Formats: sequence, structure tokens, C-alpha cells
Amino acid sequence: MAKLFIPGPIDVSPATFAAMSQPMIGHRGSEFEALYASLQPGLREIIGTTRPVYLSTSSAWGVMEASLKNLCQKKVLNLCCGAFSDKWFSVAKSMGIDADKIQVEWGQAIDPESVRAKLAEGGFDLVTLIQNETSTGVLNDVAAIAKVVKSFPGVLLVTDSVSALSAVPVDMDANHIDVVLAGVQKALALPPGLTVFSISEAALERAKSTSNRGYYFDFIEFEKNAVANNTPSTPAISLLFGLQHILGTIANEGLAARYARHAATNAQIHAWGDRHGFKNFAPEGFQSKSLTCFHTPEGFDLSAFIKSLKSKHGFVINGGYGKIKGLTFRISNMGNETEATMNELIAAMDDVLG
Ligand SMILES: *Cc1c(COP(=O)(O)O)cnc(C)c1O
Repeated sequence: MAKLFIPGPIDVSPATFAAMSQPMIGHRGSEFEALYASLQPGLREIIGTTRPVYLSTSSAWGVMEASLKNLCQKKVLNLCCGAFSDKWFSVAKSMGIDADKIQVEWGQAIDPESVRAKLAEGGFDLVTLIQNETSTGVLNDVAAIAKVVKSFPGVLLVTDSVSALSAVPVDMDANHIDVVLAGVQKALALPPGLTVFSISEAALERAKSTSNRGYYFDFIEFEKNAVANNTPSTPAISLLFGLQHILGTIANEGLAARYARHAATNAQIHAWGDRHGFKNFAPEGFQSKSLTCFHTPEGFDLSAFIKSLKSKHGFVINGGYGKIKGLTFRISNMGNETEATMNELIAAMDDVLG
């Protein structure tokens, strides 16, 4: 079996799979409530909140769409800088929501001052931001953007931290972010199928007065059940066992050490790129710490490189996403990777490059 170094889903450890293989429990009972409660301190720590953290049995898009449905009553501003953030705008449109966007070229970060200028036009009540745009390897300045959004009363901020959560801080409460969400198959190194998210009191109030929220993704249903350490519908219980294991490893390692490990393993890949003349797609100062997106050099046979790396060494990297497929390639250092495991990948990539 090949080992994944693509930016999601990522490699899942045998210990995580073992934790997931516990006997099933009913979700309307004290055992489940204890499991649910046990996840709260660790989840609140990585999100940086004292608010409850909800568990959605869906991939990230479920909660990305739900944020629009629960929170937008007037008009949403989508901050677009790559495949996932651009798509959030088209999803809003497809739902019949009044949406406008700030669009920067792929590879660039969102400028907080452009957000200020756009919001000053008026009429908005929601902003969507992707902290770490996984398609381009751009890490946006959440704190600066959140500060701008906060200066407009009545405008809520939703932040997708899918490929960032536990690799870099998001600091929901300190930054006054209204929703932080993350699918667990990326930075949290679990199999896909679960999204964790938290919402501010202001977001909860907004949702209460939003009509047509439905049931499965109704924020008010999540809140009602959270009070009783439960979920609105039957959750992916095996994934919750896995999450409990991962949060244990994060507590053991310490969040600061985990951030430092991601910075170090990311720097290893940057140094490897420098040695081979591969240039970073994201600008200095806005480069992701959990993955690296490189320009594919002119004349470089990317698909042969990726194929040989897999067939000869059993490692999988990604050959670019969306409209920059082939023009870029991406290497993940998310999750459980260490300097030693990144060195194994680097040695293999060096071998293939000859
Ligand atoms: C992968 C990804 C998504 C989409 O997640 P799904 O789990 O496929 O719904 C959304 N946002 C970001 C930043 C991602 O990296």
C-alpha cells in the first residue's frame, strides 16, 4: 500500500485505526455522552474557543454550505483565492443566496484592506474565508482579516480551517471569528467523514432568526443536542473513537510543539525544493505550514516523477488541483509526519530525480 503525502486525505496511523475498531455503542446513552464530552476540551483547545464544538457527520462542504444556510440573511462576501474558496462563492450562488466576491489570482493571499473597502459598500451580513487555501498553499492572515470584519457590526465571519487546524493557530475567540470548521481527513489525520465546528453566540443568535434551516445541518439542532453531549442524528461513532485518540496524541505532544513540528517538517520540503530549483507557488509570508505547493518547472516531466515515486518507493504526492493541475504539484506535511518520515520521502524524491 502506498503512503499518502497528498494534502488530504492524508496518512492515517495504525494506532488511529486500532482506536476506531472498538465495539459499537448506542448514541443515545451515557457511554456516548461520555465519549462526546471527552472530546470537548481537546477540540476547544485546538480551535481556541470556550464555545461548544459540534460534530457533523459530513465532509467539510456540509458545514460550509450550512454556514451559508444558517447565517446569511442579506448578502455574503466570499473571499476567493483558489479552488476551495472560489467554489464557496459558486455554492452560495447555487443556493440562491445573494453573493459577491473578492477574487485574487490563484497563489495570492487575501488583502485585509480590500475586505474593508468591499464591506464599506454595505449590505453584507456574512464573510467566508479559507485560512489555508489547500489548492495553492496560501496561508491567509486570519487575524488581520477577522479584525477588519469585526469592525463592521452585524457582519459574521466563517473560517474554513480544514487544512490548518492543529498545524497553525486559528484562535477563534481571540480573533472574534463566528464559525470555525474543519474536516478531519486533513490536518487531523483521520479518515474522511467527519467535520468539527464551533460557532459564536452571535452566530447562534443569527441562526435562530434565519428561516428554512432544515434539519441535518441546523445549527440550533446541534446546539440543543450539545447541551446533552449529543448530536442531532446518528454520528460516525468510529471516527469519534479515532478523534479521541488523535486528541490524546495532541495533548501528549502539546499544541506548541505540534505547531513547531509542522513548521520544521514544512521547512524541510522548502529546503528540498530550493536544492532542486522548485519555486514556491505562494508568496513569502503567506506560505502554508501544512503543505507546500511548487511551480512545475518548464520541461519537467511531473507525471513521470509522481508515477516513479509511487511505483518505486510507495509514496504519493499530488500533481496540482483545479485549473493549476500539472502547472503545480503539492506535498503535505500534515498530521503525524515527523522530520524522520519527511526525510524518507525526501530521500525517495531525490532518488527518483537522480
Ligand atoms: C479539502 C478541503 C475542503 C473540502 O473538504 P471536503 O471534505 O471534500 O468537503 C474544503 N476546504 C479546504 C480548505 C480543503 O482543503
